[in-house]
Amino acid sequence: MAWSIAGKRVEFRAGFPAGKLVVTDKPKGAAEHELKLATKGEWQLPVGAHSVKVVRTSQFAGPKLELFAASGALIPPTEQHLVPGVAPEGSQCPSHQVAATYACARCGTFVCAQCAGVDFTHCQTCLASLTEVAQKNSAAAAYFAPVLVFAIFGGLLGGLFAGAAGAAAVAIAKRTDHKAIKIGAAVVLYGIAAVAWILIAASLRR
Ligand SMILES: [Zn+2]
Ligand SMILES: [Zn+2]
Repeated sequence: MAWSIAGKRVEFRAGFPAGKLVVTDKPKGAAEHELKLATKGEWQLPVGAHSVKVVRTSQFAGPKLELFAASGALIPPTEQHLVPGVAPEGSQCPSHQVAATYACARCGTFVCAQCAGVDFTHCQTCLASLTEVAQKNSAAAAYFAPVLVFAIFGGLLGGLFAGAAGAAAVAIAKRTDHKAIKIGAAVVLYGIAAVAWILIAASLRR
């Protein structure tokens, strides 16, 4: 998981005991700041001239890591590192007729300080749609939780079958807004995994 904030990259990396966040200035690549995490807690992380709140909560499906701006708004992660565009000198924000501070990394709209997204990388419209996708994806991840139960009771084999079912259930959950379809697909997929596991486990025991 990683975030693009004001030209910096904030990355979650493995580390003892529960991982860490590393802030890098991507073009140069040097780590500017490191924050050691616990499995749950709240921290303040400096990112260049800004400061973001890091919140980690433990959930059934594993720890959840979220970043928030000073305003309390969620900062969605981005798959690739995105750097805000440079607003040419003399350019103005189309909504406010004041000097633009940067161009949105996604749509190129010039934004002023007031129109800037909380990640200082996107405009507010693009950031809102990214936030929606991020929340949808993190809700979809919950459909992977039963894999843990399979792994505990069914061992490696149970975990493998359930893992395949879980990956498919999450993929479906990300693509639909209908809760009944998400749940129905998960029930069918995990059902198939359970039957496959029972049959194979029985034939191995013979
Ligand atoms: Zn935009
Ligand atoms: Zn503006």
